[in-house]
Amino acid sequence: KKLTIEDLPGVGEATAEKLRENGYDDIMAIAVASPKDLADISGIAEGAAVKIINAARKYADVGNFETGEEILKRRKEVRKLSTGAQGLDNLIGGGLETQSITEFFGEFGSGKTQIMLQLAVNATMPEEQGGLNSDVLIIDTENTFRPERVIQMAKAKNLDPDETLKRIHVARAYNAHHQILLAEKASDIAKEFPIKLLIVDSLTSHFRSEYVGRGSLAERQQLLNKHMHDLLKFGTIFNAVIAVTNQVSANPAVFFGDPMTPIGGNIVGHTATFRLYLRKAKAGKRIARLIDSPYLPEGEAVITLTEDGIID
Ligand code: ADP
Ligand code: MG
Repeated sequence: KKLTIEDLPGVGEATAEKLRENGYDDIMAIAVASPKDLADISGIAEGAAVKIINAARKYADVGNFETGEEILKRRKEVRKLSTGAQGLDNLIGGGLETQSITEFFGEFGSGKTQIMLQLAVNATMPEEQGGLNSDVLIIDTENTFRPERVIQMAKAKNLDPDETLKRIHVARAYNAHHQILLAEKASDIAKEFPIKLLIVDSLTSHFRSEYVGRGSLAERQQLLNKHMHDLLKFGTIFNAVIAVTNQVSANPAVFFGDPMTPIGGNIVGHTATFRLYLRKAKAGKRIARLIDSPYLPEGEAVITLTEDGIID
């Protein structure tokens, strides 16, 4: 039998309920939690929280090691998805990687949704043309998916627009919990269709509007953390590209330079392998800056948003 959080000594029904409401819904989530977060959420003392975490660590499958050889084998399966703009592809080492999360963040109108739609169209194309020969799953949280725009972009690539639309599966997420649920269910759809691209546009908008104020920050971060890990797991299991968009807010602590920082802070930053910051420039141009890449240099590329889609 699979252990549930109620099986942990010190976790009664009421505590379990509070933990679940905050995204701590399995033993592993508790095993990696901080005692303070757990105490704050469930109202138990920090000492008691430490005991619960230690018990969870004993039960959890933390001994989940892979050999370097196994990781190399998995890395060899990595495929790349073209953005349609050569300069941007070069900046990120040839395209968006499978088995990773790529985050595009920027202000309203910076082109995040346009890039997602372009990626969706490109993903349906053969590998020789920078695609993944794949179906696409889009979790749309802002109701900004536009089939008309997909048709324009598909035509520009000489694709049959109806065939392209048939390969793009869109789910509207009505709130943060719904969004999390849709990501959990993504694997069901991937069993039916060859999904090699999963898009979440926007990753953070629901979390940002539903969890406001200092008091709910820990809860928001916990849920986002779980969500990001679900997405990454999907990318790893199905060898899929995960592309997410994120908003920015002005950080009042920044006096010099650009005060815009992505929502979700460290949680999103640590789980996304590639982070691209989009800034508006004149006449449909956007500047994409690569930030915090594990093995690529920081740098910028200019893209242009056109009727036909994203180009250099
Ligand atoms: P975000 O998702 O970052 O808020 P969008 O991806 O919606 O931003 O970008 C909107 C911008 O995309 C518009 O300001 C416009 O410059 C460009 N855009 C949208 N549709 C078209 C089109 N058909 N032709 C050219 N540019 C377009
Ligand atoms: Mg958008």
